[in-house]
Amino acid sequence: MRNFEDSYLHKGLRKKLVDQIRDKGITDEFVLQAINNVPRHYFLDSAFERHAYEDRAFPIGEDQTISQPYTVAYQTQLLQVKPFEKVLEVGTGSAYQASVLIEMKARVYTIERQKKLFEEKKNFKYLSKYPALLRFYGDGFEGLPTYAPFDKIIITAAAPFIPEKLIKQLKIGGLMVLPLNEGDIQIMYRITRVDEFTTKEERFDAFSFVPMLSGKNG
Ligand code: SAH
Repeated sequence: MRNFEDSYLHKGLRKKLVDQIRDKGITDEFVLQAINNVPRHYFLDSAFERHAYEDRAFPIGEDQTISQPYTVAYQTQLLQVKPFEKVLEVGTGSAYQASVLIEMKARVYTIERQKKLFEEKKNFKYLSKYPALLRFYGDGFEGLPTYAPFDKIIITAAAPFIPEKLIKQLKIGGLMVLPLNEGDIQIMYRITRVDEFTTKEERFDAFSFVPMLSGKNG
């Protein structure tokens, strides 16, 4: 386990990153505050640590990436998280996105299908300060029926279709934000569960994510 420190230098770089994200169009100050609170360098391999506050995605092992901070802020803003809401995340990866949600006072249930990433201990000590963060090893296409319904669901891998089982795990009035495949890119969608049988779909900008794959690995 690495010995982490959140220095004035880190904090200063993080503030600059938040300003950049704001300049790119993120307006929700609650989201920006959460980004400002999470030491992203704790979530990266030491080789990338000095780049932690660049607005870029980086490898986290197993061919996966920690999302670009702008993308994390974008999805989080669309999710409209309020304190104490139950949020399901598909694709824990480094647990950076999950930590941002926790900083917004959500209760977060996050699923990862890659055993190695699920067992990653690098930022374990940091995550242990978040009792409201629950991590699961499993297939996000199945969701977490035992813990449903959720106020919000966020998928952080490129979904080939809108997973029907996840819609069923949303509360009426709940929202799901996901990048949906359209050719080689993904379009960010926000689905509202209007009632038992009806959903509303909104389309936003184009992004590029690693694929959402079915089944567990490891
Ligand atoms: N949210 C992450 C970024 C994730 S990258 C972060 O903040 O670092 C996408 C992640 O989704 C990868 O770790 C990948 O293994 C995982 N993934 C892909 N398909 C999945 C599925 N069906 N269920 C759970 N996790 C999945």
